[in-house]
Amino acid sequence: MNRRKFLLGLVVCPSVIFGADEKEHKEKYLKIYCSHRKKLFEIPVTPSISQFLKTYECFKDLRSNKGSFIYPKLVEKLYNIQRYFGNKHLELVSGFRTKHTNKIVGGAKHSLHLLGKAADIYIPGVSISKLYKVSSRIINNDGGVGKYLKHGFVHVDVRGSRARWRS
Ligand SMILES: [Zn+2]
Repeated sequence: MNRRKFLLGLVVCPSVIFGADEKEHKEKYLKIYCSHRKKLFEIPVTPSISQFLKTYECFKDLRSNKGSFIYPKLVEKLYNIQRYFGNKHLELVSGFRTKHTNKIVGGAKHSLHLLGKAADIYIPGVSISKLYKVSSRIINNDGGVGKYLKHGFVHVDVRGSRARWRS
């Protein structure tokens, strides 16, 4: 690169010189649609302030309007599920829940939704059975996967040990 080009690059776009744009292109995003808000969130998979703020907003308990820290491991697992299905966005049915909300919706007493470690999801055009099967493989021994055929969603969590159930 000659001097003129270098200087021009520095003025126009510093990333041309320092290669930051290459890094940006490699950033992975979890695409998750929050139906309550009618908003598609794009959440960076790498833990960061941006990930914290976006998951806080997207996974918020709307009954109480309270958010929570959402574990990066959950974001990573959800991203891997998204990627398996050709990067189609996921639909979030339920993210974080307060104790009160959890009681109302009939969640388990020690639900992982209370800790920011769980999500109930579905993908338009993908059967719940298929989503369950793939999620089970991706979550592996890191957490729980529940199949809710009648309600039309799959529960995934990152509790740190394996659990499977069908409802
Ligand atoms: Zn759940």
